[in-house]
Amino acid sequence: MQNISLDNTAIEIHRKIQTGNIRHVVFDFDGTISLIRDGWQNVMVPMMVECLQTETNTTETQEALESLVVDFVDKLTGKQTIYQMIQLSEEIEKRGGTPKAPLAYKDEYNRRLLPVVEERIAGLAAGTLPADPLRVPMSLEFLQSLRKMEISCYLASGTDVEFVKNEAELLGVAEHFDGGIFGALREYKKFSKAIVIQKIIADFQLSGSELLIIGDGYVEIENAKEVGAIAVGVASVEDNMYNMNADKRERLIRAGADIIIPDFREGKLLLDYLFNP
Ligand SMILES: [Mg+2]
Repeated sequence: MQNISLDNTAIEIHRKIQTGNIRHVVFDFDGTISLIRDGWQNVMVPMMVECLQTETNTTETQEALESLVVDFVDKLTGKQTIYQMIQLSEEIEKRGGTPKAPLAYKDEYNRRLLPVVEERIAGLAAGTLPADPLRVPMSLEFLQSLRKMEISCYLASGTDVEFVKNEAELLGVAEHFDGGIFGALREYKKFSKAIVIQKIIADFQLSGSELLIIGDGYVEIENAKEVGAIAVGVASVEDNMYNMNADKRERLIRAGADIIIPDFREGKLLLDYLFNP
């Protein structure tokens, strides 16, 4: 087998890239920096199965519906949450039901997720819960190093922007995103990770090797490859009872990740590699 690990680290180099030019770095939030929303699938999947059961006359079994939902939720992860809700509406319609507006399902999902994340958020805000275990290991230190090197950092998340800003603040990472914090909007067509990336490229007239995208979802990795940017996939471990995204590492590689890391524990070595020509 080909040895792809960098100097006996857990850093995997999958493609030869042009190093030494990076000036801007875009981060995904959930699963890349934040673990606050870890376990969200445990809320979204049962809600959708329930909607399909109560809003249609389907005779499909609970297991069949669950497997359908797990499949499309998983496929759409990394895009704004609304896209998962649009698909739910379509599935309800396909089964003869009259779906509500996707935004109504999204509001309901946020309402149900709230108690799960609120405990963590309240604990962080009150100072009774330390931030460190709710950050992907060494992500803060990695960001700090980048800022010391005067590299511009941006946050782009499929979670609603007001939540992202608040949670980034509570995790102590917000101040490091000098380039801005971006997230999902109610007018969902006005935001996508691709739009953020394209704007940075246009504003600074960047070539691909000057831009680095870091994320744990195939969406941002594909977005990076579409513009020729360098893509680092974070194969972080997720806690959900459906075993969703269990093949995260393989998925990120398929999406075109140049480099795979499990987290930022070997961040210094990764920076050495990325910033030396
Ligand atoms: Mg993510």
